[in-house]
Amino acid sequence: MPLIHEHSIKLNITLPRGDVHAKMETFYNPLMVSNRNLAILLLNSIENTNLNIVDHLAGSGVRSLRFLKELQPDKINHLFINDKNPRFKKVFKQHLTLNKISKPLQKKITLGNQEASLFLLNRINDNVKPSDFCGYADYIELDPFGSPNPFLSAAIARISRHGILAITATDTAALTGTYPKVTQRKYWSTPLKNYMMHEIGLRILIRKIQLLGVQFDKALTPLLSYHKDHYFRIYLQSEKGKEHCDDILKQHQYFLSCPNCLNFKTSLYNNETCICQTKFQYAGPLWIGKLHNQNLIQKISENNTFPEEQKFVSLLKEEASQDSIGFYDLHEIARILKRNPHKMEDILKFPHITRTHFSPTGIKTNKSLAEIINLIKSLSS
Ligand SMILES: [Zn+2]
Repeated sequence: MPLIHEHSIKLNITLPRGDVHAKMETFYNPLMVSNRNLAILLLNSIENTNLNIVDHLAGSGVRSLRFLKELQPDKINHLFINDKNPRFKKVFKQHLTLNKISKPLQKKITLGNQEASLFLLNRINDNVKPSDFCGYADYIELDPFGSPNPFLSAAIARISRHGILAITATDTAALTGTYPKVTQRKYWSTPLKNYMMHEIGLRILIRKIQLLGVQFDKALTPLLSYHKDHYFRIYLQSEKGKEHCDDILKQHQYFLSCPNCLNFKTSLYNNETCICQTKFQYAGPLWIGKLHNQNLIQKISENNTFPEEQKFVSLLKEEASQDSIGFYDLHEIARILKRNPHKMEDILKFPHITRTHFSPTGIKTNKSLAEIINLIKSLSS
């Protein structure tokens, strides 16, 4: 059987003939390589060291194996790796040997074989030495197959002060307006199916996670948030305190979007009329604050060792310099102006306008729609 190679790691796993699925003998998703690359870059770019890391939906354990090989030596204090698959421990130990993980590093590992949330919540009562794990983790990896919902409460309860929650959601249809009732039930918000649906979906997901955090007085602030391929990914840093939580809640508002003139804005209300006299469509409530920590993305970009991520990381860095809600789409603007769309490069020559990873034809800017339309008209004259 040929080995699968993922950067520093070799895996002895058989992939299914069709798409990967939750019932695989050992779960491994080759489409998440980029997701794991970014996690390594982020952990190597934050200042924190000696981290207690939890990877409790480990699947094959490839992410943890890569953490052991590719994180800077001072990053890991202890790594708690868990999967409920009965074969998990045996297969993972084989991979430790296959990948020649050193004995000192192996001493930093605790393996679990429980349902993911139980693994996290049981820890406090386990016979683990307090020096190993005091019941709170500095980094929790939540990369489930589908919605993160079933695992959010336990992860939020066990994240440490200043700890980082890394959350993936692959149920993008539920967040982008395909099934609005599902969005209501699962994410307590109204989606909007237009050209901004991925940014709106990401912001709906962020608010849902934050609401679960504030009930424990944990304010969860996004460090890095993106949509890629067919998933959403968010890194949130936890701060303790009522004031921080109140600040978070103030940034939960509606997003209003005019289907006629493309104007958009945020509001505490969802029943407003645009200056063009068309009734706004609305999404939300959702997170209207920043999606990224600009300094961190700068460091991630400087530290990037993965050529295949260069384009994406550069785009995120550029976008983080103009971290506002919503974006304009050059094709949509061309449609309402009844003219051909301008080239992206021409528009980017103006200051305070950047591309966005949400759409190849989208631009992020603090400028008003009227200002953007004037700029576009000036290009034509
Ligand atoms: Zn309008």
